[in-house]
Amino acid sequence: MIDRWGRKIEYLRISVTDRCNFRCKYCMPEEGVAPLSHDDVLRFEEMLVIVKAASELGINKIRVTGGEPLVRKGITGFIKALRVIPGIEDISMTTNGSLLEKHAEKLKEAGLDRVNISLDSLDGKKFYDITRGGNLEDVLRGIDSALTAGLAPVKINCVVTKGFNEDEILDFVEITKRIPVHVRFIELMPLGEGNRSEFGFVSTAKLKRLINAELIPVEIKGNGPAKCFKIEGALGSIGFISPMSGHICSRCNRIRLTADGKLRPCLESETEYDVKGLIRSGADTQEIKSFIRRVILSKPREHRMYTTYHKHTKRNMSQIGG
Ligand code: SAM
Ligand code: SF4
Repeated sequence: MIDRWGRKIEYLRISVTDRCNFRCKYCMPEEGVAPLSHDDVLRFEEMLVIVKAASELGINKIRVTGGEPLVRKGITGFIKALRVIPGIEDISMTTNGSLLEKHAEKLKEAGLDRVNISLDSLDGKKFYDITRGGNLEDVLRGIDSALTAGLAPVKINCVVTKGFNEDEILDFVEITKRIPVHVRFIELMPLGEGNRSEFGFVSTAKLKRLINAELIPVEIKGNGPAKCFKIEGALGSIGFISPMSGHICSRCNRIRLTADGKLRPCLESETEYDVKGLIRSGADTQEIKSFIRRVILSKPREHRMYTTYHKHTKRNMSQIGG
């Protein structure tokens, strides 16, 4: 489907849970978020009904995210069910990687194509600090397992925050020389906890100055808003996602489904549509398709995170499905 601004919308990101075993400081409050009641959470069968309808409108890529998708029971079966939906060509997952060692092979067998693993520091203590309790070694083993299982490409999401991990950028770049992983540096967004004054975003321009090496443009599967490059001779690549300093919205190709059954046309805007209510009222596929069509046609031209119109969002990324 083409939206009002001429963009082809072919990508649905599904937050399968708002729960998480980490509490990253820019994403979740220390005490976590009030858990949704069992009935408020979309059942996998309901998500599949939405994906089937969306696939008939041209959605062909699905990303499973959260919260932490691997804490939701039955996730492998869900991937299996997604795999057989006609028109779905690409299934990926964003995970914190802590439980991946246990799941990588089964996820691959179920039909998962690829993973993005979040990793903001290569220093165990700093990692523990930013995630409020995460174990770096678990995540590193998770990355290894993803590579061994053939979940390719393996991408590493690194949110750069001022004064916290700027000094590790070159270490992340170094990894891409030795291992076929694709590090993507992400500018911190002022959403939910990310809006706290202790955090500052670091611009892509600054990162490029820090890297100070020749960057050869490359295309990596599922590039999305990332601009990707490689260092001569490297096995992997680096990419930059610049929601704050760049104009990524003209390439936006996605809508989002939250764990509590809301469709969101834009990451930043609080506007959301209650598709769970629609399904539970007994709507048929045609009605669900018309509903999704309306959501797509309501996509704004761009987000307002760098403008004064940006309002503090109630939802954290863990509740939107980053
Ligand atoms: N738990 C999984 C994980 O950490 O990969 C999936 C959900 S998490 C919300 C998805 C991604 O959003 C992570 O890479 C995380 O670092 C990123 N994220 C969370 N809050 C953010 C913020 N305020 N700005 C930019 N990225 C953010
Ligand atoms: Fe959990 Fe991912 Fe948010 Fe960290 S970024 S708290 S791992 S949902």
